[in-house]
Parts: sequence; C-alpha cells; structure tokens
Amino acid sequence: MQGLLKGAFGDRVSFSPAVLEAHGRDEGYPEARPVDAVVFAESAEDVEKLIRLANEEGFSVIPFGAGTSIEGHLIPVERPAVSLDLSRMNRILEVRPEDFVAVVEPGVTREELNRRLRSHGLFFPVDPGANATLGGMAATNASGTTTVRYGGMRANVLALEAVMATGERVRFGRPVRKTSAGYDLKDLLIGSEGTLGVITKLYVKLHPLPARVHALRVFFESIEDAAGAAYALMGAGLPVARLELVDDQALRAVNRYLEKDYPERPALFIEFHSSTEAALAAEREVALELIEEFSPLEVAAARTPEEQKAQWEARHQAYWALVHLFPGRKYAITDTAVPLSKLPELIAYAREQMEALGLEGSILGHVGDGNFHTIVAVGEEDYPKAEAYVERLVERALELEGTISGEHGVGLRKRRYMVREHGPALEWMRRLKAVFDPKGILNPGKILP
Ligand SMILES: Cc1cc2nc3c(=O)[nH]c(=O)nc-3n(C[C@H](O)[C@H](O)[C@H](O)COP(=O)(O)OP(=O)(O)OC[C@H]3O[C@@H](n4cnc5c(N)ncnc54)[C@H](O)[C@@H]3O)c2cc1C
Repeated sequence: MQGLLKGAFGDRVSFSPAVLEAHGRDEGYPEARPVDAVVFAESAEDVEKLIRLANEEGFSVIPFGAGTSIEGHLIPVERPAVSLDLSRMNRILEVRPEDFVAVVEPGVTREELNRRLRSHGLFFPVDPGANATLGGMAATNASGTTTVRYGGMRANVLALEAVMATGERVRFGRPVRKTSAGYDLKDLLIGSEGTLGVITKLYVKLHPLPARVHALRVFFESIEDAAGAAYALMGAGLPVARLELVDDQALRAVNRYLEKDYPERPALFIEFHSSTEAALAAEREVALELIEEFSPLEVAAARTPEEQKAQWEARHQAYWALVHLFPGRKYAITDTAVPLSKLPELIAYAREQMEALGLEGSILGHVGDGNFHTIVAVGEEDYPKAEAYVERLVERALELEGTISGEHGVGLRKRRYMVREHGPALEWMRRLKAVFDPKGILNPGKILP
C-alpha cells in the first residue's frame, strides 16, 4: 500500500510515526491507535483518487478535520486504515453578502471564516468552543453556545458537496433558505461522522453581526436554582443568544487557570443580541425579573466587547481549566440532552449521582437547548466508577425522552447506547450505511454498534 499511495500522492502522503500517531487520537477518547498512512488532500480530485484506490485495494478511509472530536471518531477499527486529512483544503471560495452565504472548503476553521466575514458585518454562528473545521463540524452536526438562537450545523449548512464511497462527487441541497424538493440527503450527510461520504465543499448560512450585545453572569445558591432560572427564561420565550450553565467547580478551575476571581457558585452566563438599545434593555429587564424568583446571589454585566470576550473565554476554557485542575486523571464526559422541562430534574440527578459515587467533576453546558455536559475526573483505578456514572445518566436521560448525544456524536464510545436510543430504527440506519457504502470503506466501526 505504501508504494501505491506514494505513487498517487507524492509528498502529500506521510508514514512518519509521529504523524500516524497524531491522526489516530482525539481530544477526549482514552485510547489512541496509529493509522497506517495519512494523505493530505489539497483538492476534491485528491479525495476522489483516494476513495477510488480504497475501493480497489480494500483499505478504509477516515476523514480528519482538526482532530478536536472527543468520542473516538478518528480511532481506526479496521486495518489497513488511511487518515484523509482535509486541513489543507482551507480556501474560502466565495462570500456572497447579498445572499448571506459563504462557499468554503471543508478544512476552513470557524475562526478563520469569522475573521474573513467581519469586514462584511457578518458572522457564522456555530461555535463548539474548539477551533474545529467546517467539514468536521458538519460531519458531527456540531453546535455550541449560540445554538439556542441561531441553530446548529444542520440549520446553518444550506448545501454541500461530498465524494461518495464509489468515488463520485455529488452535490446535496441548494443554497436557499428553504426547499421541499425531495429527500433531504444533505441533512443525512450532516452528522454522519465520515461514514457516508467525504464532504469537499459547504454552502453555509451567514448572519448579520448583532448591532447591540449585552452579556450577564448570574450566580446562584444552588445548581437547581440556576437550572430553574434557565428554564424560566426559555419558558418566557425570551430570544436569548446564549444561555450557559457553569457550575462552582468549573468556576474554581477557571479562576485558577485564567487568574480570574469569579464567585465560585453555580452560574448562568447569558447573552442578548438586539438591533436597538431599547429592545436590549427591555429583554434584560424581563430576564432579571424572571431570575429574581430564584434568589440570585449576584448579577454582573459585561457591557464592552472586551468584557464579553473575557466572559465567553472563561466559558470556553472551562474544559481545559478542569484538565489543568486535575492533572494526570482520566475524563468521562457526558453530552445528554432532554426536553427542556426535564432539564432541572436531570441536572439534580447528575449532581446527586456524582456525590453518591464519590466522583469529582463539573456540570456545564448549553442549558438553553436542554443539553449539558458533566465531566468527571478520575484516577485510573476509579475509571469503572466513571463509566457507571455515565451509564446512569444516559439511562435517566433516555427515560426522560432525551438523547445520548446533544452534539458530540457517537464515535466509538457511545455505540453501545445506540440500540437503547433508537430501537428498530437502528436497523434502518444499518441499511442506509449498506446503500451508501456497500464495501464499508468509510470510517468503519463508527456510530453503528
Ligand atoms: C474543549 C472542547 C470543547 C468542545 N465543545 C463542543 C461543543 O460545544 N459542541 C460541539 O458540537 N462539539 C464540541 N466539541 C467537539 C468537537 O470540537 C466537534 O465535534 C467538532 O465538530 C469536530 O470538528 P473537527 O474539525 O475537529 O473534526 P475531527 O475531530 O477531525 O473529525 C470529527 C468527525 O468528522 C469526520 N470528518 C471530519 N472532516 C470531515 C469531512 N470533510 N467529511 C466527512 N467527515 C469528516 C471525521 O471522520 C470524524 O468522524 C468540543 C471539543 C473540545 C476538545
């Protein structure tokens, strides 16, 4: 295989042990396994060529964006396995401000796109914290802090082009705001974790930068009060742009890591986007009235862009701050989402179970979407306890009509819960996989148990 890939891709293929190792790991899965080769695609033609070779030679192909996924999406299961690194396909092909559309290659990162859009007064809202690629974000149906207002990847990718397992390049969808023309295969490719096709181009939806922004931090006595207040804000139909829960443990970690002095109490980090100062003031007033019912301990405002940037940096760095607080430990991260009214109940259960199992960790996340993460940090010998905790939380979320993954995806780690979530629908997913990828060359072993 080495000679064949070398002949086809020249210096765009690597067999260096460090490169093979770096492409067989991610940011959260506890195991890593080096891949057998890494091809750095520079064009859609490179992708087509690799997929055709995979068909002829029978190796598997694992698309790779920025490598920030956390559920084992990139770890090879079947041999030989070639990682297809798309980070060099990083051209912003077109910005069409008049249509609020940009056309990008899959290796463009969200930060790079937003830098380019600023001069047009536009932005791309999906914000998973990590500086992921647009291709990787589409493949995991990523979302983030602004999803409560602007939606996740399915809502913000209008059309895409992908190389299918046959090696054909196909466009799915049209760059329009709505369509009723046939089966929505664009949305099927989104969230398919590289198992149905390799995304080579995306038409993404842009939004005007908000004219007025106001951010708040509200600290509470208990996490139950914080969760209750979040539900009250959503229940009132307030158009919050961000509504994040950050617990006392996460704030303790952030204070140490970023040298901040936030009160170490459960908090809601909130942001409003409006077109006028009057509308912003009215929304803030209603929000504060609703929050008052939950006896907040302190309310702090972030008015300037610098203060707002600092507030959201604290939220985005919370995971790394926790890793820093508990050096050398292993982490188990949950990603459940439940119907909004069930959120306070599941958060209380998460806290109770963490205490019952004697685990140290933190609860934080996108509560405006009914989605939150718990991160437990354990020593090697306590890892089974962390797994038991994840199992309990997943079970309870499913009982509450929730999902095992609000945004991180399935990868390897969550495959074992798929049958419990989907039941007979899982068999239809298997049939789909067989239609799209009959030889099983695209990221085999992921999603489907
Ligand atoms: C600190 C931290 C915080 C995070 N917070 C969030 C969050 O709030 N929300 C969230 O959604 N995620 C979050 N994540 C997870 C991660 O950032 C997302 O899953 C992200 O979308 C992965 O993008 P990537 O470019 O790194 O893709 P990779 O990790 O490289 O790949 C992810 C998957 O997509 C496939 N893939 C990559 N590119 C393509 C392509 N062009 N075509 C087809 N398949 C492809 C891969 O095969 C793999 O299955 C977080 C991760 C970290 C480390």
